[in-house]
Amino acid sequence: MTEIAHYINGQQVASTSGRNQEVFNPATGSSEKTVALASVEEVNAGVAAAKAAWPAWSKTPALRRARILDKFKNILWERADQLAEAISAEHGKTHDDAVGEVTRGLEVVEFATSAPSFLKGEFSENVGSGVDSHMIRQSLGVVAGITPFNFPAMVPMWMFPIALACGNTFVLKPSERDPSTSILIAEWLTEAGLPEGVFNVIQGDKVAVDALLEHPDVKAVSFVGSTPIAQYIHQTGIANGKRVQALGGAKNHMVIMPDADLDMAASALMGAAFGSAGERCMAISVAVPVTDAVADALIDKLVPQIEALKIGPSTDKTSELGPVVTAQHRDKIKGYIDGGEAAGAKVVVDGRNFKQDKQGYENGYFLGGTLLDNVTEDMTCYKEEIFGPVLSMVRKNSYQEAVDLIHGHEYANGTAVFTRDGDVARNFSQDIEVGMVGINVPIPVPMAFHSFGGWKASIFGDHHMHGMEGVRFYTRIKTTTTRWPSGARVDPEFKMPTLG
Ligand code: NAD
Repeated sequence: MTEIAHYINGQQVASTSGRNQEVFNPATGSSEKTVALASVEEVNAGVAAAKAAWPAWSKTPALRRARILDKFKNILWERADQLAEAISAEHGKTHDDAVGEVTRGLEVVEFATSAPSFLKGEFSENVGSGVDSHMIRQSLGVVAGITPFNFPAMVPMWMFPIALACGNTFVLKPSERDPSTSILIAEWLTEAGLPEGVFNVIQGDKVAVDALLEHPDVKAVSFVGSTPIAQYIHQTGIANGKRVQALGGAKNHMVIMPDADLDMAASALMGAAFGSAGERCMAISVAVPVTDAVADALIDKLVPQIEALKIGPSTDKTSELGPVVTAQHRDKIKGYIDGGEAAGAKVVVDGRNFKQDKQGYENGYFLGGTLLDNVTEDMTCYKEEIFGPVLSMVRKNSYQEAVDLIHGHEYANGTAVFTRDGDVARNFSQDIEVGMVGINVPIPVPMAFHSFGGWKASIFGDHHMHGMEGVRFYTRIKTTTTRWPSGARVDPEFKMPTLG
């Protein structure tokens, strides 16, 4: 079995930790690779490489840094299919979905190439007589990214393009479930001209994460993953004096008002609930039809579409719903459906017993799409993030009841309302306590030049990711005040200086 290695100082480095973990192909259920699980010493080596590279990289003109990222972007465009195949082989998502992931990541690289523009400082002439003042943004040093399995290319690309463009050096700790894309990315960055040590990958688990959180040379940590771990990363990172942004889990509601275009809403629900097998932090997992009539009409439209989903591996380009990531995760999803049914939810479409009969894929971790109706707030399948191809319907009788439902949930990543009523749309957008809002848009993921992030238990830390929030997170401000002799006062000044 080949072992997926670390990437330190511009090359792959085989692990000596003696620890590893199998990496599975979710479509076949087989494993041909393992991934190294780093020791503390290996993490220290990655951080040391990044620390050594930082002085020169941070002093490299922003335009030169941007040109390297631009070359990397061109490589990504050319090899998007190759990267997508690597993603699908370990994550399971369909090919088109994986290409979409690469494209959304690539857009952050595109944004990062405008670093010379977004790193421009501010200058104030004559803030006092003969005194000028200017502000610049400087890099932090070594920064770390710890990323989840569900977007092995895009989520790291929410982080490192901007971190590098700002002059930081980077250590990535990818998910141990789909680690190969991180090595391709590292190799392509090197090919684009990135100097040794500027971008490093340390494969691993909690041992590696804790070593990064405790390392005095790591100045900031970006995390995306589940809420309990996000909270842990935030608390531990802050306690160790680091800047931390930690994005967590989600339960995203879509409100369907009686005046909505129901064909549009049903089609939006199909993509948003079952795309990527529901393993997206912006998946819609709860449909909230306002009135029973809307609920019944939606069910009539959804059922035939869910039953017709093309469930298959990424190697079949017509597949719409791929497998989920591991056998354990498949069983956990089934457990949520069992629990919902036992608590009184109606299983309108049941994906639990789906059997994949395509030759070679019989042991893959496939599930059919599931629709649960009459789900209520007290059910575990409502309260917790399922992260699978399961759409729960919680019926409400008014707009206000739907809003109250959303406000009662601990997560607040994304949400959407489907309506033709401008007042409803405006009120929803203004008043809803959720970080990312869609009006007739089911998955309102902000573009790279805006910023991504939820509220409440979906985020810990003050900065959202990418866009100008990313620039703020990865830089610190320095303000210099300058006086020249021609304007200098002669006498010492003992009171607080004021303009007078
Ligand atoms: P996860 O929390 O299990 O793992 C994320 C990372 O944390 C991995 O690199 C993993 O190695 C590490 N990790 C896991 N357990 C740890 C521990 N005990 N101590 C230290 N580090 C640990 O998440 P996942 O299952 O890989 O990803 C799915 C989750 O990510 C979902 O909850 C999803 O909503 C969330 N997610 C959120 C966003 C967002 O933007 N809010 C985006 C994508 C995914």
